[in-house]
Amino acid sequence: MEDTILVINCGSSSLKVALFDLNLNQLTSALAERIGKEDAFASIPGYSRDIPLQHGAGHRDALQAIVSAFKELNLLSSPPVAIGHRVVHGGETFREAALINDSVRRAIEDCAGLAPLHNPVNLMGIEATTALFPEVPQVAVFDTAFHQTLPRHAYLYALPYRFYRDWGVRRYGFHGTSHNFMVTEAARLLGKQPNETSIISAHLGNGCSITAIRDGISVDTSMGLTPLEGLVMGTRSGDIDPGLFDFLKTKEISAEDLHRILNNESGLLGLSEKTNDMRALSELADQGHEPSLVAIEVFCFRLARYISAMMASLSELDALVFTGGIGENSTLVRAKTLSHLNLAGFAIETSLNHQHGKNTNGRIEREDSRFKVMVIPTNEERVIATEALEASGTIRQR
Ligand code: ADP
Repeated sequence: MEDTILVINCGSSSLKVALFDLNLNQLTSALAERIGKEDAFASIPGYSRDIPLQHGAGHRDALQAIVSAFKELNLLSSPPVAIGHRVVHGGETFREAALINDSVRRAIEDCAGLAPLHNPVNLMGIEATTALFPEVPQVAVFDTAFHQTLPRHAYLYALPYRFYRDWGVRRYGFHGTSHNFMVTEAARLLGKQPNETSIISAHLGNGCSITAIRDGISVDTSMGLTPLEGLVMGTRSGDIDPGLFDFLKTKEISAEDLHRILNNESGLLGLSEKTNDMRALSELADQGHEPSLVAIEVFCFRLARYISAMMASLSELDALVFTGGIGENSTLVRAKTLSHLNLAGFAIETSLNHQHGKNTNGRIEREDSRFKVMVIPTNEERVIATEALEASGTIRQR
């Protein structure tokens, strides 16, 4: 039976699991949803049915059920050789993936103030796998780590400096695993070394962020202290005028209300008053639903502004890269966004855009475009598996 790497992405009520072989081919994956609720369940693509979880099942029960199912499928007859965990916030402590021990656990706890919704549940995932596989090396892979190379002028807010000095208030950036994968993949497809490759990477999923990568390292990014800053997202507003806080005091909207509104009720959902789902929005817009079209237009314009803003951090640009569910699949979003950037010299070929770059090594730009434009599928789980293997020392021991 072959050796495997287990990848865990633990959310507050969900648990995503992926299993890889040591050549980093994905063997299977699973998703547990509604954890803690009566109707919690787990599902495995290719497995005959959903796996019901007990009433009140926690993350550990969900993981146990998924692992049992993997065993039934003959995919995990012995413990994995390494386990990789997605951890959202590594603060300024973690510049790379870390082998988990007591001090790393404490440091993840210490960063929880910066990501109260995420780090505590990521730790629950770590506890769950520790209980099941106490002997297996576990590695934390941080969303923020790739952006620890941001220069000071890009990470400081123009706030009283003591906010940064005393409380660590600064821009951290997220989706680092995906942006890192983009520069590696773009370099491979362009026949260059990652550390000689400069790209603008637009990760457009439910959460959206864009990063300027200069010679392989992150030098500017759109998300900030939290994943709320920057681009328009599925349900998050992205940038807003902080003066809104004062204005809303007169409307009796509390800080808690505002937190919920900015995170869960804004973005594409807020503007369209229909859905946060870009595919559904595009269909609605096609059918003449004006608010859906407006939502897409605001989304694309903000993205175009950010693409040009990212150029301030680069001296050359090998490619603009689109990824994430929207970036990889939405012909409309790519076309609309780049229609704002003719002056900057971007032009895409309609037929290649419709093929999502699949037959051209990801390339969709027109011949006369000043810059290359690429579509590259992201695979964050695979990057986490790679980092888990490296940081666990498993490769060296073998
Ligand atoms: P997450 O951030 O949760 O991983 P994804 O990267 O899967 O999300 O992206 C989800 C988004 O991608 C949704 O808005 C979805 O509608 C959009 N999407 C997926 N396929 C298409 C498509 N064919 N056309 C337009 N949007 C799409």
